[in-house]
Amino acid sequence: MITGKTKTLAVIGNPVSHSLSPVFQNAAIEAAGLDYIYTAFPVADGKLEAAINGMRAMEISGLNVTIPHKERVMKYLDSIDRDAEILGAVNTIVNKDGVLTGYNTDVKGFVGGMKEKGFEPKGKKTVLLGAGGAARAIIWGLIQEGVASLTIGVRNVPKVRPLVEYFSKYMEITLLDWSTAEFETALEKAELLINATPLGMCPYVEAMPPVNWDKVPKGILAYDIIYTPAETLFLKTAREHGCETLNGEAMLVGQGAESMRLWAGIEPDTEVMKKALRQALEERK
Ligand code: NAP
Repeated sequence: MITGKTKTLAVIGNPVSHSLSPVFQNAAIEAAGLDYIYTAFPVADGKLEAAINGMRAMEISGLNVTIPHKERVMKYLDSIDRDAEILGAVNTIVNKDGVLTGYNTDVKGFVGGMKEKGFEPKGKKTVLLGAGGAARAIIWGLIQEGVASLTIGVRNVPKVRPLVEYFSKYMEITLLDWSTAEFETALEKAELLINATPLGMCPYVEAMPPVNWDKVPKGILAYDIIYTPAETLFLKTAREHGCETLNGEAMLVGQGAESMRLWAGIEPDTEVMKKALRQALEERK
């Protein structure tokens, strides 16, 4: 029951009404028997500072932050965790006795998805397809996990070069045009292949990044961070080719679960969260 003691959590963004976070976070709250509620607050572009002041004034326990506020919110916080500092983006704010700390849980969400499946990225030759907004957390996660090598294939190399240069101080990264023979050579050695492009996402389910599957070793893990549909054409093709597959549900739920750990100090039930997410996605179809 919601009472005067119930603590408030929310996601802020613009727009935010489409967010699935309230669905799986409230499922986690209920499963853990926590006296929290998780909602969504739309925050217009010019209202971010007011929203964070409101968080302080109303003692809101925690927030998730989504587009377009992930970068700009940093300047209104009291401290920033290392992952968030390196990524230049905050997706979680913890209010501890009036002190606001910014975190980025996308990294743990991305890595946790693989580990939950029993896949250990350490020492693996890794190929990443696409390098847009989501790729920063992926690249940083792969570096921290100690992958053996990282090759990024994209359609527009000059556009991605600054991102690769930024992370090159932590690890040598190879950036290639994905239509080249050199990229196919990288594919032949891959042990982990990740799709971080939106190609294949609903409603464009017939699309797929240009992978020459003849070059991809069978049995490797193909990880698509898309979660609608549950099996993209990339994952279907990978499965039929003999690869292990993983979709983006675990990453989405994983970043939320890490936020919940930070806010409430509990180990949330990620299976309950995934079930709630799947049900909500089904209802949206
Ligand atoms: P993005 O910034 O728009 O694009 C990612 C990459 O895909 C970029 O390299 C982009 O290249 C490339 N790309 C986009 N459209 C393309 C096309 N038609 N042909 C070839 N390359 C194309 O996307 P994002 O924000 O990183 O998100 C990528 C996907 O991840 C989305 O489907 C998103 O829903 C999903 N996602 C999932 C999670 C999760 O928790 N599971 C979290 C975040 C994102 P250019 O720069 O050249 O356009």
